[in-house]
Amino acid sequence: MRTLSHFIDGRRVDGVSGRFSDVFDPNTGAVQAQAPLANAAELAAAVASAKAAQPGWAATNPQRRARVMFEFKRLLDVHMDELASLLSSEHGKVIADSRGDIMRGLEVIEFACGVPHLMKGDYTQGAGPGIDVYSMRQPLGVVAGITPFNFPAMIPMWMFGPAIATGNAFILKPSERDPSVPLRLAELMIEAGLPPGILNVVQGDKAAVDAILEHPDIKAVSFVGSSDIAQSVYARAAAAGKRCQAMGGAKNHGVVLPDADLDRAVADIIGAAYGSAGERCMALPVVAPVGEATADALRAKLVAAIEGLRVGVSTDPDADYGPVVSAAHKARIEAYIQMGVEEGAELVIDGRDFTLQGAEGGFFVGPTLFDRVTPNMKSYQDEIFGPVLQIVRVQTFDEGLQLATRHQYGNGVAIFTRNGDAARQFADQVEVGMVGINVPLPVPVAYHSFGGWKRSGFGDLNQYGEDGVRFYTRQKIVTQRWPSGGEVEQSFVIPTMR
Ligand code: NAD
Repeated sequence: MRTLSHFIDGRRVDGVSGRFSDVFDPNTGAVQAQAPLANAAELAAAVASAKAAQPGWAATNPQRRARVMFEFKRLLDVHMDELASLLSSEHGKVIADSRGDIMRGLEVIEFACGVPHLMKGDYTQGAGPGIDVYSMRQPLGVVAGITPFNFPAMIPMWMFGPAIATGNAFILKPSERDPSVPLRLAELMIEAGLPPGILNVVQGDKAAVDAILEHPDIKAVSFVGSSDIAQSVYARAAAAGKRCQAMGGAKNHGVVLPDADLDRAVADIIGAAYGSAGERCMALPVVAPVGEATADALRAKLVAAIEGLRVGVSTDPDADYGPVVSAAHKARIEAYIQMGVEEGAELVIDGRDFTLQGAEGGFFVGPTLFDRVTPNMKSYQDEIFGPVLQIVRVQTFDEGLQLATRHQYGNGVAIFTRNGDAARQFADQVEVGMVGINVPLPVPVAYHSFGGWKRSGFGDLNQYGEDGVRFYTRQKIVTQRWPSGGEVEQSFVIPTMR
């Protein structure tokens, strides 16, 4: 049995807490490795290494820091196949999708390569007589990121890309369910020229998160995961005086207007609902067709498309999606399917008891479709995070708009239509952070930023893009004058610009 490690001070370090977590192969159900679970002392060792290394890194000029990012980006390309297969073996997403996971992180690294420009301040000459004002952005020091299982490459890079490029040292606490890719990313950063201590990976569970939240030298915490934990991490970090952004769960809706191109919409919806077995915070697990005729036509096309889906092991190049991450998660998804049935929704396609020949122990859930789901059902209100698509029939555009707006989550939403007016009104009024117009997965590109509303996001700065730079830096404003000669004036009145 392989035993994984932490990555502290530039090298792999064995765990000493004596606690471990099983890492499964979701294709077979077998335990393939043990991940150490850090205690407070192990976290403190990583912070000490980070704290010692950070001032030197912050003092390294931004072009040199950017060069490390450029080289890291090159190494990601070189190691793409190795990383994708490692990712797929622990997460269960198919190889092509694993490459997508890495690519979306790589795109944030590309953005971080622009750090010399991104950290430039503003300058006002002559703000007063002989007075100039300028601003600068400085790193916070040691910062931490806590990441979920479903994007073990992309989300760590969302965080450590901008954090490290701007001169911080970073402690990454990845998901204990797929901890190997984060370790390899840290090794590649060292190979790219990053000094030891600037990126540390501390494997762990709640105990490691508690240690992060309690450590006085950690100045900011970025969290991505489920909403209850996100909210609690946000509250505790804020109470400890740390800057915090905490992204939570989701239940994204796709509103389908009667004028939509249904064939395109169905292709988009199927990919977004079932891709990665629905284990994406930007998945599309709810569709709201407007009007009965649209609903009936959409349902018929969805059923036909689902019948053509291929579920397979994550290494199968023809599989549309693979297993879910764990037996516990499979059981949870199946319990939600049962709940939907008991709540009175119409189970059109049942993905329970799906087995794959030759991989009977794997954590597979077949594609599932519900119709006539209603907003009062708990199976609608909760995030299921599996390959389960729910049709909620609405009668008007406004009802569709309100459905997405009233949901407790507000991560992403999509509208399918040919009507520009309706799309524009929808984008303007819907209370959701990221909107797709005929785009099923509106994950913003790396130079915008990512964040949901309501219970999908706590804190006020998004992930990556310019918000990422703001989150990991603090601004200092300098007002200066260099008087030479003239009278010495004294005033007890607040200076104004009159
Ligand atoms: P999770 O909340 O179980 O775990 C997230 C992180 O928190 C992990 O590192 C985990 O070790 C840690 N953790 C677990 N229990 C904890 C506790 N009691 N206290 C403190 N920390 C704890 O989430 P997950 O199952 O790994 O990931 C799936 C969830 O993440 C879904 O809800 C999904 O919507 C969400 N997600 C959100 C976004 C987003 O940007 N909004 C992106 C991806 C995933």
